[in-house]
Amino acid sequence: MSVLVYVQNFGGKLKKQNFELASYASKIAEAMGTDVAGITIGEIDNEELQKLSKYGVSKLLKAGDPSFNTRINKIYTQIVEQAVEAAGADVVVFPNTNAGKAVAPRLSVRLKAGYVPGVTELPSSYDPFIVSKGVFTGKAFANVKVNTSVKIVSLMINTFGVFEKETDLVIEDFAPQIDTTGVTSKVIDKKLSKEGLSLFDADIVVSGGRGMKSPDNWKPLEELAEVLGAALACSRPVSDEGWRSHEEHVGQTGKIIAPNLYIAVGISGAIQHIAGVSGAKCIVALNNDSDAPIFQVADYGILDDAHKVLPKLVEAFREFKKE
Ligand SMILES: Cc1cc2nc3c(=O)[nH]c(=O)nc-3n(C[C@H](O)[C@H](O)[C@H](O)COP(=O)(O)OP(=O)(O)OC[C@H]3O[C@@H](n4cnc5c(N)ncnc54)[C@H](O)[C@@H]3O)c2cc1C
Repeated sequence: MSVLVYVQNFGGKLKKQNFELASYASKIAEAMGTDVAGITIGEIDNEELQKLSKYGVSKLLKAGDPSFNTRINKIYTQIVEQAVEAAGADVVVFPNTNAGKAVAPRLSVRLKAGYVPGVTELPSSYDPFIVSKGVFTGKAFANVKVNTSVKIVSLMINTFGVFEKETDLVIEDFAPQIDTTGVTSKVIDKKLSKEGLSLFDADIVVSGGRGMKSPDNWKPLEELAEVLGAALACSRPVSDEGWRSHEEHVGQTGKIIAPNLYIAVGISGAIQHIAGVSGAKCIVALNNDSDAPIFQVADYGILDDAHKVLPKLVEAFREFKKE
């Protein structure tokens, strides 16, 4: 019996989301009186992987063959399936990211295992296994009972938090048997469309809303993000209008983020927006309407015209950094 966590490999590096997922798996394992094993796929240094020993992972199966560096979902599914068996896992924990969404359902079919996507909390019961997930775009919660012997859940990133628990982590090389029948395509090259910090991992996020008025007004926001070393985000109408990419959309129906600092510019603070950013440690709002709801959740507020204030903020931070 164990809990298996899927350790996503970000080009040989781990990210904060790996530690959050390990923390979640570790709390489940604690409640079940068992240990956490992990499966990692593709090349990655053991030194990097050892970071997981701080978050309760005691054994890691490393399928480190370079041919696995690019995710092919059918192959990754086979690797995780064999890891489930090797680890004797009862519960498998994935991130609710593109990688998790691609592999977890396939694994569920192969193992005939119950799968609950998009969980945000620990199971409320382990026998029977019951875990809740948001439904109707977060308007309600459904308690889902999983009856199969193996249970699969995927955790929404930035909803659970990171909890330290030291372990002696053992890393074992893992050589799965791969059947390539039915693998019809392979990614041979990848290029990032845009360099930049991942919203999930950024410590500082600068975000723009409809109050920016036009996509042509984003330059000062980009400059502010650059001087602060921040990632850029936006409200949903901004991405719906095509002013910014949906990759930047935060909120109930977008990404859920938990940076140290969230700067919301020209964003009213609708409940659906706040649902995605309330995990921020500090919220700063810049808005010209004193009744904007964002001021009710902000730690600091600037009541003024964004177009006037932003260039001054950028200038002030540039000066500050020179000192
Ligand atoms: C089911 C559902 C899911 C949703 N999911 C999301 C979600 O995931 N994320 C999300 O963001 N929204 C979501 N929404 C939409 C949400 O309800 C709001 O409509 C949206 O967040 C508003 O975006 P906004 O704050 O950019 O625009 P607005 O509400 O139009 O606010 C613009 C703000 O800019 C201010 N402003 C205007 N001019 C200036 C200026 N010159 N200087 C400074 N401030 C200025 C205004 O005072 C105002 O407060 C969802 C809605 C529904 C129904």
